[in-house]
Amino acid sequence: MTSNGKPKVAFFDFACCEGCQLTVVDSLQTHLDLLEAVEIVQFREAISDRGEDYQIAFIEGSCTRQADEERLRKIRAQASVVVALGACAHTACVNALKNLHPLEDVRRWVYGDQAEWYDTYEARPISAVIEVDAIIPGCPIDREEFIRVVKALLLGKKPPLPDYPVCVECKLKENVCMFHIGKFCMGPVTRAGCGAICPTYGDGCEGCRGFIPAPNENAMKDVLADAGLTVEAIMARFTMFNTYLVSARKADGEERR
Ligand code: SF4
Ligand code: SF4
Ligand code: SF4
Repeated sequence: MTSNGKPKVAFFDFACCEGCQLTVVDSLQTHLDLLEAVEIVQFREAISDRGEDYQIAFIEGSCTRQADEERLRKIRAQASVVVALGACAHTACVNALKNLHPLEDVRRWVYGDQAEWYDTYEARPISAVIEVDAIIPGCPIDREEFIRVVKALLLGKKPPLPDYPVCVECKLKENVCMFHIGKFCMGPVTRAGCGAICPTYGDGCEGCRGFIPAPNENAMKDVLADAGLTVEAIMARFTMFNTYLVSARKADGEERR
C-alpha cells in the first residue's frame, strides 16, 4: 500500500500478443476514476517505471518455458492478489496449439536454423504454475468486464464471473441461432460475459472465454439437440482457444478410468 492508502498495481506479460494490455489502456481512458484509486507501479505498455512493490498483479500471457515458472513464482510471492488477464493466461489460448505437434518441429518452423537457441516447452495457463485468485477471460478481454473486476477487487469482493453459457446472452439479444443458418457455434458450452458478441455480428462463437463449469450439466442442450449435436461433439472442436483445456479434460478422464 502507498503512503496515500492506494493499492499498488502491476501488469506483467508472458507469451501473448499483448492485446489484453492494450484493452486495459483503452478501458482506463474512459475510467479515469480508477486511475485515481490505485497506483500503477509497473505496466510496460503504458509507463517506464518498474516498481517491484505491489499488492495486485495482473498477468497476461502463457507459461511457455522454464524461466517463466521462476518469474511467475516471484510475482506470486509478492502479490496479495493475482489476476489472470485474458485467455493466454487463463487457458493458454492459441499458444497451446503448438502442444499438438512435436516440440522440435515447432521450434524449427518458428526459429529455423536458430531453433536450438530458444528455450521453449508446452504452453500452459498460469494456473498450472501458481495459484490464481481471479480470471478475466477472453481473447481479448472485455473492457467493461475488466473495470467490473478491478472495482470488485478494490472493494475487497470476489470478482463476478458468469457461470452460464454464451447462449443465454445470445437469446437475450434475440439473435438468430448460428445453427439455424448452417453455421457452427460453441456458445452452448462457452462461458458467457462477452454479450455473445460473435453471434451478434454473424459469426459462431469460437470459445475464447473457456468452458462453463460442468459443461455436461450446464450446456444449453436444447440448442444442441436442435442441431443434432452433443456436448462431447461440440467440445471436440474446441481447438482454437482451448487445446490445453481439452487435453487436460481428456487426461483427467483417462486417469479416472
Ligand atoms: S488473450 Fe488474445 S488478445 Fe489477449 S494477449 Fe492473448 S492472444 Fe492477445
Ligand atoms: S449456439 Fe451460438 S448462435 Fe445459437 S444461441 Fe447459442 S450462442 Fe447463440
Ligand atoms: S462469442 Fe465466443 S468467441 Fe466470441 S467473444 Fe464471446 S466467447 Fe469469445
